[in-house]
Amino acid sequence: MNFWQFKFNSEYWTNWENIQLGEIEEWQSPKTINKEPNNISINDIVFIYRGSTKVRRGIYFVAKVLNVDFTDKYPIKLKIVKDLRENIFVPENFGFEKVVKKINDLNQNGTYYKFSQNENPKGMYDLIINNKKSIKGVRKKYTKEELTKLANEVFKIYIDKYNKNENLQYSIVQPSNNKKIIHTTASKIPMSNGTAENYSERLFNLWNKLNNFDIHNGLEDCPKLLEEVGIEVFDKKYFLKENILNLITVEKVLEEELKKSKKDTKENRLNRLNDKDKKPPKIEVVSTQYKRNSDVIIEVLERANGTCEKCKNPAPFIRKKDKTPYLEVHHIIRLADNGNDTVENAIAVCPNCHRELHYA
Ligand SMILES: [Zn+2]
Repeated sequence: MNFWQFKFNSEYWTNWENIQLGEIEEWQSPKTINKEPNNISINDIVFIYRGSTKVRRGIYFVAKVLNVDFTDKYPIKLKIVKDLRENIFVPENFGFEKVVKKINDLNQNGTYYKFSQNENPKGMYDLIINNKKSIKGVRKKYTKEELTKLANEVFKIYIDKYNKNENLQYSIVQPSNNKKIIHTTASKIPMSNGTAENYSERLFNLWNKLNNFDIHNGLEDCPKLLEEVGIEVFDKKYFLKENILNLITVEKVLEEELKKSKKDTKENRLNRLNDKDKKPPKIEVVSTQYKRNSDVIIEVLERANGTCEKCKNPAPFIRKKDKTPYLEVHHIIRLADNGNDTVENAIAVCPNCHRELHYA
């Protein structure tokens, strides 16, 4: 099966104006075409391209070759298998720029072009017929308007999270309701959900870069147009909160940087250590703390009576200021996990056991 592009300008378009899906167009070749596509055969696929400057250029129909007989006055019979007049397929939007260039170089009087297989006409066919938003190896090019829609949505989500001092977690698509918002926007563009998530995360990196926030989720930078759009859409008045991050985010940043550093080569690490300013940059941190009940702490320490309630060893040292054994009071169910600040939910432990409880 071969794929063809038939191109008509407006003068030859009248035949196609009233045609309906499933109908057959008999192609009166010698009048409209300079020479026959003589190796066309039954079941080949024909994309009907309208090449006029007066209307949007693109594919208006997909047809299948029903019959070929060059002795006939109408040698090629085409059956319409897809009517795209309501939603014209513009091949260059889907990465078919080279093909479009070839089509545009063709004679205006109505002519044809046979695709070579490496131009991926099957991919184009799949895109059109199955309404796929993207296919492997073919990336849709988005317009500025489309990308602006996405960037606006990402910006809203980000500012909302940011104003609430929520953990930014290297991700804009978490929690799942953010993901849903992004998918809804994607369906309007249309963009695949995966691409929309990926682009959203890249916009999130761009935002952080513009704000000098040292948060990066490891994805590549925005494609050029997306970056331009992001810079336009992000409202500069929000840049004023420079370097204010919440504590969870700061810890997360370090955690991610540790991963990166560990993965890197020793040589790179040492090079960076040579370059690096020896004084660490200061950042302001917004954090949420719980006001703990002093009665609980004293009661638990009394219950423990100088012995770690986990390993049963004596406290490692005596406090200088009040000569009491040094133990730390740990909540069994964390306050952050809605645990109670009560004697029952707390144990007195040595510093080793305390670390173990948190990190082991
Ligand atoms: Zn212990």
